[in-house]
Amino acid sequence: MRMGLAANAFHHDQDNAALFHWLRACEHGIRELNLHLHAVGRTYAAIVRVGYLKDYAGLVRYPYGHEGGLMKLVAEVVGMPEPNRTLDGAIYLINPVDPSSTFPEAVALKRQCVIHQKPFISTVASARDWVEMERIQAGFAPDPGADDLYALEKQTIALIAHDAMKPQMMAYASDHFDVLSRFARRVGTGTTGQQLNELAWSRGWPQDKEWVDRFKSGPMGGDAQIADLVLERRCHRAIFFEDPHVARQHEADIQLLERAVTTVTDEAVCMTSPRVAARWADAVRRRAA
Ligand code: PGA
Repeated sequence: MRMGLAANAFHHDQDNAALFHWLRACEHGIRELNLHLHAVGRTYAAIVRVGYLKDYAGLVRYPYGHEGGLMKLVAEVVGMPEPNRTLDGAIYLINPVDPSSTFPEAVALKRQCVIHQKPFISTVASARDWVEMERIQAGFAPDPGADDLYALEKQTIALIAHDAMKPQMMAYASDHFDVLSRFARRVGTGTTGQQLNELAWSRGWPQDKEWVDRFKSGPMGGDAQIADLVLERRCHRAIFFEDPHVARQHEADIQLLERAVTTVTDEAVCMTSPRVAARWADAVRRRAA
């Protein structure tokens, strides 16, 4: 597997920065999976400086950001015709107050991951969660260091889907009702939440209880309300099925929620692709077996 890797400066310019939280927790798993990391210039240099992934052939250097390193990652998420120029997804550890996190290539990286159903990983917690998911899928024994991420009974999950993606969200919730029901609490935007509650009631969930606690509808500010829960560390995961093919009237609110997740990078996991979310739910089941 090959993943693009970049981190905003704040996440790699100190030896105890977020990038290194991830590498400390996951270097072993990265080597087990033989995961290739295609890292843009400064991120690559920081990893070498701090001494992670020493002598690891899977760590590949890309140009600096100002030379187009992040742009190349976008093209390779889409896929280039030459051999070895297709990435399976991207890890981009975002500092939301770094202006470069809003540059077109940064937005395009996320968008092309969503379009091509590849993981877009923007937080340390998401990156740890993803490595553990891939380890479990590859048949490795659970890493006790990831137990906190899989203690779903202590977590709140947010479930949000744009209109075109609502059928996929309903199918997802139906297929993985058992996993999603393990969470201490589920929250959602208004319309998604209502449809999910109707699904849950049809599946025998007590009629007098809501399966999902509903906030306002997305365009009326529901994303911003859920972002506040994330910032207060009262919501630990978001599954957000975005529609990348339409202009969205509440784009700012959508971005706000994504930026909230990256603000609490060690604590919040976000998944944007139905394919990745299904793979994760399957890993949850396998890990508990
Ligand atoms: P909705 O909001 O669930 O109320 O449709 C989702 C969104 O558009 O963010």
